[in-house]
Amino acid sequence: MVKIYGHHISGKSTKSDSRKTFQVLNPSNEKVIAKFQLGTKKDINKAVEAASQAHKKWSSVPAPKRGEILLEIAKILKKRKQQLGKLESTEMGKILQEGLGDVQEAIDVFEYMAGEGRRLFGYTTPSELLHKSCYTIRQSLGVIGVITPWNFPIAIPAWKIAPALICGNSIVLKPSSDTPMCAYELVKICEEAGVPKGVINIVTGSGSEVGAEIIKHPKIRGISFTGSRSVGEFVTQNAGLKKVGLELGGKNPIVIMDDANLNLALKGVIFGAFGTTGQRCTASSRIIVHNKVFKEFEEMLVEKTSKLRVGNPLQSTTDVGPLINNAAVEKVHNYTNIGKKEYAKLLCGGEKIGTKGFFYKPTIFTNVTPKMRIAQEEIFGPTTVLIKVNNLKEAIDVCNSVDYGLSASIYTKDISNAYLFIEKVESGIAYVNAPTIGAEVHLPFGGIKNTGNGTREAGIEGIHEFSETKTVYIDYSGNLQKSQGIKWNQK
Ligand code: NAP
Repeated sequence: MVKIYGHHISGKSTKSDSRKTFQVLNPSNEKVIAKFQLGTKKDINKAVEAASQAHKKWSSVPAPKRGEILLEIAKILKKRKQQLGKLESTEMGKILQEGLGDVQEAIDVFEYMAGEGRRLFGYTTPSELLHKSCYTIRQSLGVIGVITPWNFPIAIPAWKIAPALICGNSIVLKPSSDTPMCAYELVKICEEAGVPKGVINIVTGSGSEVGAEIIKHPKIRGISFTGSRSVGEFVTQNAGLKKVGLELGGKNPIVIMDDANLNLALKGVIFGAFGTTGQRCTASSRIIVHNKVFKEFEEMLVEKTSKLRVGNPLQSTTDVGPLINNAAVEKVHNYTNIGKKEYAKLLCGGEKIGTKGFFYKPTIFTNVTPKMRIAQEEIFGPTTVLIKVNNLKEAIDVCNSVDYGLSASIYTKDISNAYLFIEKVESGIAYVNAPTIGAEVHLPFGGIKNTGNGTREAGIEGIHEFSETKTVYIDYSGNLQKSQGIKWNQK
């Protein structure tokens, strides 16, 4: 029997007003593994009401106490890491090691944000007037609408829930319809650790209905969205004056210079391009190689890629799991056809594997020029492209020739190359001698250009998206003092 999940509102399992459910599939074998509620506007209203009520109490719990609860969440996640890692592989399809990594990222972010409970720093500053003190404090926004994708089904909700909670907000979460089980387990753990009921509510259902209602809801004060650029644009057009955080797509380059350690670069490219089946916002989807080492690197890459083992993500011998769903297979395959039509040369892959499960062969195109669509658009699958360049300046120009600006990397032994790259590349994250993936939770994460709206998640900056600043002036002079040198003698 397949379990039917309710929405999670005020800590209770609740049926949707629509009385309809949708199915969740295991992407490795297309079997139905769960059913979830197909939510409606009414369901969102209920969840927002629950979250508004819960916010009143939760925001008055001292932040260090909230931090203790976050630490407890991290402890429970540690105990259930294996079980949750397996759930990731089953529901999302990433290989077990990466599933465990995803859970670890959630543990890390809850531990980090627990510490923020004893900081949440504002600042003090002198006044231009005598006997007057000035400082800032951070306060919660209220109810936050959190909308998440499927590719990091525990870590991404955790990256948003942890800072939202420590700042004293309550949450209405709409997880991806492909991976609601992972989000559901995470929220249950939060409550088990002591987060009061109603502080985190889940409403499942389609993005166009449930997600859109969250974005427009007048009682929701902040939106934290991770997903595609097109939906990100919809958020900005419909969220009104809410505080909005957007983490969108990428077309992330790795530059390989003629002095690079090619073996190291090869390992980085394989991990960056084909890890998580290429379904990372930071996936290394453009490999920009100096002409002096181009041929050699191309051969090394094709040889290594053809040995990758695609299959069941729960088997320890598997390197690459399935894509998330059939639409993803079709999208990736469509880009294979686009690449061929653009006269790029297909070196390997380019086809679906088997009849059951959403498997696709790791794919490499060469003879790719920077303006081709396969070099400009996010494919979000196991496809990468090789672009030849003559020098560092040209490499950086190619890096910067796309609309996105999330992550970028260079392999070189020359320190001047490395620093010039860091200075000139248009991205929110830069790596040297490491691939475009590998974020750590105590550093800010996010991109520039069409990758987002300038907000950052994680690290100290991750707090800003989920809090308001209040500026405080205390005048203890006993006089009416006037700033800006105003002279006005009241009679
Ligand atoms: P998506 O299609 O944009 O969906 C993301 C979330 O938005 C899902 O929960 C989806 O619900 C919901 N949604 C869809 N249409 C909506 C609408 N009109 N209004 C409100 N919500 C709506 O993205 P995805 O395919 O899940 O994820 C892949 C994308 O995420 C890629 O572009 C990737 O680069 C990006 N990403 C970015 C980061 C980052 O930090 N920069 C990290 C991970 C992923 P349904 O599931 O019900 O459709």
